[in-house]
Amino acid sequence: MSIDFGTDIYEEPIVAKTFLSEDAQEGSLRPKTLKEYIGQEKAKGNLAVFIEAAKRRSESLDHVLLHGPPGLGKTTLAGIIAAEMGVNIRITSGPAIEKAGDLAALLTNLSENDILFVDEIHRLNRAVEEILYPAMEDYAIDIIIGKGPSANSIRLDLPHFTLIGATTRAGQLSAPLRDRFGVTLRLELYTPEELAKIVTRSAGILNVSIAPEGAMEIARRSRGTPRIANRMLRRVRDFAEVRADGVITREVADEALRALEIDWLGLDPIDYRMLRAIIENYGGGPVGIDTLAATIGEESVTLWDVYEPYLMQLGFLTRTPRGRCVTRKAYEHLGLSVPASLADEAEQLSLN
Ligand code: ADP
Repeated sequence: MSIDFGTDIYEEPIVAKTFLSEDAQEGSLRPKTLKEYIGQEKAKGNLAVFIEAAKRRSESLDHVLLHGPPGLGKTTLAGIIAAEMGVNIRITSGPAIEKAGDLAALLTNLSENDILFVDEIHRLNRAVEEILYPAMEDYAIDIIIGKGPSANSIRLDLPHFTLIGATTRAGQLSAPLRDRFGVTLRLELYTPEELAKIVTRSAGILNVSIAPEGAMEIARRSRGTPRIANRMLRRVRDFAEVRADGVITREVADEALRALEIDWLGLDPIDYRMLRAIIENYGGGPVGIDTLAATIGEESVTLWDVYEPYLMQLGFLTRTPRGRCVTRKAYEHLGLSVPASLADEAEQLSLN
């Protein structure tokens, strides 16, 4: 019996998209407390102190900026902050707030100490962003009433709220906005050991039997990203149910992930196309991200946000001012002979 992984929801690639229809069930897997939130020890440690201090003073928490690649737990962390503070959270995103009035409506409907979570905050438009400055700093907004010479500006006081902004690109935030966050936390890619804990926890919630080696196999191949680990778990579960009496062992995980074209390091066909294109079309680099995206027919945001961070962490790709370059390690992983220039470099490094 075989599973056709090419149909239905499996048409969607497991890595490339920041959100898939199957992620709609993500809610049940989200940790609800800081204790349950695995990894990110530095961010958690800092947050625990800020939360405790704000609670003792009975004040709203300072505005928090969370940054890091998609699927690392920014939205989850915002929900946890709200739960730990015992306040409500309103969730929206940069592109969803089109007009200054949309933001004014959101802000005036908050209660004291509430949290407003704005995902993809780097995509706020300028007019909306300008409303945010006095809102964040003075808890007030200026509203213009009327038009032309008879227009009047009135100042509306807002409750003391906390803005939690999430972004994959801290560098794209304007300086005035970035400066208004009191706390900036960078989320890092997770280690395989942390991801194995996340997979085991999720398997418990989904009622799936999994061997520790099965969890580790998924963890090692999920590119440091909990969302990808959870997606892999669901697909490997389906495979295990049909092919292997429901238990996820290392062999079952390996077979299922291979069928999904995920290699032993977690690389998928787009990673391969990216690395091969740099090597075959651009002599190993440097090549600009937009040129590379056009060459392989992907969007540059996807390469930038999803693919590059992991390839860089593996040491397969470097970012230089003139563009991206592949490394000796990448040639080796692809089973290609390492060009003399890179081989020399490695030799020189070991001589120094
Ligand atoms: P982001 O907002 O950064 O894109 P999310 O907060 O939506 O990421 O997280 C994606 C999924 O990964 C969530 O459903 C959650 O179950 C899981 N997840 C993220 N971080 C953790 C963590 N530290 N521990 C356990 N599960 C996590």
